[in-house]
Amino acid sequence: MQQKKAFRFGVVLRRIREYLAADSLADAAMFELAERGHRTLFEQLVACVISIRTRDEVSLPVALELFRRAPTAEAISRLSVAKIESVIHASSFHETKAATIRDIARRTVSEFAGKLPCDVDVLTSFKGVGPKCANLALGVACGESRISVDVHVHRVTNRWGIVSTRSPEQTMRALEELLPKRYWIEINRLLVPFGKHVCTGRLPKCSTCPVLEYCRQVGVTSHR
Ligand code: SF4
Repeated sequence: MQQKKAFRFGVVLRRIREYLAADSLADAAMFELAERGHRTLFEQLVACVISIRTRDEVSLPVALELFRRAPTAEAISRLSVAKIESVIHASSFHETKAATIRDIARRTVSEFAGKLPCDVDVLTSFKGVGPKCANLALGVACGESRISVDVHVHRVTNRWGIVSTRSPEQTMRALEELLPKRYWIEINRLLVPFGKHVCTGRLPKCSTCPVLEYCRQVGVTSHR
């Protein structure tokens, strides 16, 4: 194994940013959704619920279709759970998610006049919404500095050797200690596509990885 350099977030994240841009690799779904005009907190939260345990290639068009049919919290609140379920059918756990989405829509209308407040306690009070989705939605829609850790962020940062954690929640807390705040929103945006296309679950592409010299490759027994 080659000699490793001291880990530097600035250099590592810049290299990943440039690598993803050069290869036109898909943006993380929530950010792409925002760029397509769906940037309200309600939309971001609903889209994140749809994306749970579902690949971006599936969850992004599903979210777009739901917002095309019912573009506001009020419009979604008027749909039946069965109707929402039929629209988001390609997403995993669609039955549970449909009930969650209608509950979010109804409470957004009845308690917040159709506009969710940028308040983590409100978002996590919805059944089915955990810190990952709350933080991501608050980061994208409200510009709050929050770290959203999904399986990709969790896997990549553990392989780098900068955290040693057993769950995304533990990784989120560890990164809050380590990561400069200016990268808190961007780390999700970078590491989701990086984890999908380069630092993959099986056989990561270490031989062509732009950050190989900074990565301890913890737990990597074979790679491409
Ligand atoms: S060197 Fe390998 S394990 Fe490390 S970030 Fe790159 S692909 Fe992942």
